[in-house]
Amino acid sequence: MDERNLPTVYDPQKVEEKWYQIWEKEGYFKARVDQELSQKRAKGEAKTFSIVMPPPNVTGSLHLGHALDNTLQDILTRWHRMQGEDTLWLPGTDHAGIATQAKVEEHLAKEGLSKEDLGREKFLERVWDWKKQYGGRITTQLRKLGTSCDWSRERFTLDEGCSEAVKEVFVRLYEKGLIYRGNYIINWCPKCQTTISDIEVEHEPHAGKIWYIRYPVVDSEEGIIVATTRPETMLGDTAVAVHPEDERYCHLIGKQLRLPLTDRTIPIIADDYVDKEFGTGAVKVTPAHDPNDFAMGLRHNLAQITVIDRHAVMNKEAGKYAGLDRYEGRRQVVADLEELGFLVKVAEHENAVGQCYRCDTVIEPLVSKQWFVKMQPLAEPAIQAVKEGRTRFVPERFTKIYLGWMENIRDWCISRQLWWGHRIPVWYCQDCAKVICVKEEPRVCPECGSAKLVQDPDVLDTWFSSALWPFSTMGWPEDSEALQCYYPTSVLVTGRDIIFFWVARMIFSALEFMPDVPFREVFIHGLVLDGQGRKMSKSLGNGIDPIEVIEQYGADTLRFMLITGNTPGNDLRFQTERLEAMRNFANKIWNASRFALMNLADYQEDNSCTGGNEAKGKVTSSIDAEKAEYTLADRWIRSRFNRTAREVTRNLERYELGEAGRLIYEFIWNEFCDWYIEMAKPYLYGKVTEASRKTAQKVLAGTLRETMQLLHPFMPFLTEEIWQYLPHQGDTVMLAPWPQGSESELDEQAEAEMSVLMEVIKAIRNLRSEMNVPLGKKAQVVLIAQNEVALTALQKGEDYLLNLASLAQVELLSGGAEKPEQAVTAVVSGVEVYLLLQGLVDIEKEIARLEKEKGVLDQEIMRLEKKLSNQGFLSKAPQEIIAKEEDKLRDYRAKKDAIMARIASWS
Ligand SMILES: [Zn+2]
Ligand SMILES: [Zn+2]
Repeated sequence: MDERNLPTVYDPQKVEEKWYQIWEKEGYFKARVDQELSQKRAKGEAKTFSIVMPPPNVTGSLHLGHALDNTLQDILTRWHRMQGEDTLWLPGTDHAGIATQAKVEEHLAKEGLSKEDLGREKFLERVWDWKKQYGGRITTQLRKLGTSCDWSRERFTLDEGCSEAVKEVFVRLYEKGLIYRGNYIINWCPKCQTTISDIEVEHEPHAGKIWYIRYPVVDSEEGIIVATTRPETMLGDTAVAVHPEDERYCHLIGKQLRLPLTDRTIPIIADDYVDKEFGTGAVKVTPAHDPNDFAMGLRHNLAQITVIDRHAVMNKEAGKYAGLDRYEGRRQVVADLEELGFLVKVAEHENAVGQCYRCDTVIEPLVSKQWFVKMQPLAEPAIQAVKEGRTRFVPERFTKIYLGWMENIRDWCISRQLWWGHRIPVWYCQDCAKVICVKEEPRVCPECGSAKLVQDPDVLDTWFSSALWPFSTMGWPEDSEALQCYYPTSVLVTGRDIIFFWVARMIFSALEFMPDVPFREVFIHGLVLDGQGRKMSKSLGNGIDPIEVIEQYGADTLRFMLITGNTPGNDLRFQTERLEAMRNFANKIWNASRFALMNLADYQEDNSCTGGNEAKGKVTSSIDAEKAEYTLADRWIRSRFNRTAREVTRNLERYELGEAGRLIYEFIWNEFCDWYIEMAKPYLYGKVTEASRKTAQKVLAGTLRETMQLLHPFMPFLTEEIWQYLPHQGDTVMLAPWPQGSESELDEQAEAEMSVLMEVIKAIRNLRSEMNVPLGKKAQVVLIAQNEVALTALQKGEDYLLNLASLAQVELLSGGAEKPEQAVTAVVSGVEVYLLLQGLVDIEKEIARLEKEKGVLDQEIMRLEKKLSNQGFLSKAPQEIIAKEEDKLRDYRAKKDAIMARIASWS
């Protein structure tokens, strides 16, 4: 591009859309996958970088959590790509079994249809249509964010390849005896009519009741009182449990109780699980309707009596209550217990009732036949891999959480009573009851030859397919070139809320089927909360749509705001003020770049410096160390840039992306814009010499270009736009070399000298504003340097002082020189600064003003002294009020002293 004039105002909308289209069309996101690379990698001659994107729900839409997650991944990917590595960022979506099916069912309900009306096949067609209609939404939104993933490799958990992998895994685990079918207590949603996983159950506190019921001991006057929040389940009780060391009940252990409202008797058992302090210390045990009781039932070999069915209706085991809804059943059971004298009391009780995350229906724990993965043998290697550091968590504290969960893992219930998903590859022979687990539908039973085969109606938990994501997406079970080039992946970036449900499952699945872990590192981030620190939710109405933010502020601004508010593993708050601040930052960069380009109109760069594609891989500094021609400011900005680049690189290596972003921000704003550009102006304007103008242009162009490269992973669009206007080599900043920071350009002397000059300039500016000296009025200063460094700095920097502090004259003295009179003064590191007042302010008037100010202070001091010696005040006023008044007095006295010293120095 030869245009050297940027538009006056930055318009992110236009710029962002334009560049994304170009990048995608040019194939810059595409991963290199070929034999040469795989061979080189095998020999350790090539390092590749890969990430698999956590797949969002296919028909969902982007939320801020996705925006954060994908910004982090994009920064890492762009950074590695700029370092010359071959990168693969593999995108994709999840079929999200229950979420998607529920949406389509809701939609059907509007037409007055249920899924059963359509039948399985027709219903699935409708879901695929739905997917076709809404499936592109989230990937379009991800593009708006600037994600540089390889869309040509986009995958879907239900696509052919992923389905193939799922079947392969299921059959292999089944044949190994690691998948079994068994009775288990599961979370059942009576409305969605499916099992839902533990995380899909939401617990919210509810005001409820607790009922105390007396169970009589058989052949005795005694009884045991149990407390329960679900009295209707007593019909399914098969024991009462007490703590083995509970003295109140010891003598009853082993005896039988008569279960009220039934003709059954149940035993009194002892179990450590019982909390002596809770309720009466005795609990009813209902193995078929409570997960803890279920476990206790297994320990004590208790029967499981189901009294509530899948529609949450009392069944025939409930006797006369059969046919009642569970809540009506509760009312009647309580009424009968009361009438028969078994109800001892009712109390108010707050408890956390589990609800379906989709429809808010209260969950009914039920025992049913389900498919399970046996976890113990799979967990072992997954624990080892993390303990040995083959997969490392960032931040480290998540290792403990992971290990804690893995070491206490329960078998994983993988069947779901849904239609949308991977159907379980198991057929039942109707003639001989043989169970057939194979990848392809069998025609006849291998046992008896019967053709009457029925496939298991259930589908697999969505996590079953996403657990295979790191290798199923790269072509497994084939030993594909993609796997050879990019597996194990480098890092997984994800939120802390899905460590167990996803991260852990990927690790043990990979270790079972692949030669190595799925990823070397797991980078965990927190949640995006609202400005008050609350979780964003539909019910609070505090959600923020990232797409609206992008439309208003631009994707770069959103990205930078999310990144700089973020430290690994911790939650961050979404604050509009911070968004505004980041937009100001983008505008600041734009304006500085416009200034630079206006002053580079006639600048030609010789080609000895930065490279684009051809320099890929080797890191060169754009500017040769032709320090002789450089001004102090040039040397300083080069040093600061390279030091910043080194620090940024170091932080990226440690996943401190927020800190890396902050360092770039500080460099651009506080050093490049506020100081360097100002210092370079006289040179750029040709006020010194023509040669020095060329040098200034070179440093300005090179530093700005490299700064755009450094900022690129964070703000990809803005940096590409500006980079293209600057002299450059190569087609895109995306493939320009990453500035690692060259050691040869570090210049401690220049930094030390500049730091003296900046402090002196700031001190003079402060003095000027204290004295109300108008900006245009040139002042005179005397500077007394107290050491050698300061003296050299001031000598070299005289021009900067004159320009930036608006001075007519600088007089430099060395330590011990006589101090000038009639001046205001400040001391900064190694320099005493005297701003001469002669001709700058009317000293007579200034003294009068100070005298007046002193008078006011005298009044205040007197008033406070009087107050603070008043016994009445001292005895009545609260301690903190007295302390406040004392502080005030101290403050006024100090101010008065300062004024008097100033007056004295002038007279
Ligand atoms: Zn539900
Ligand atoms: Zn058969």
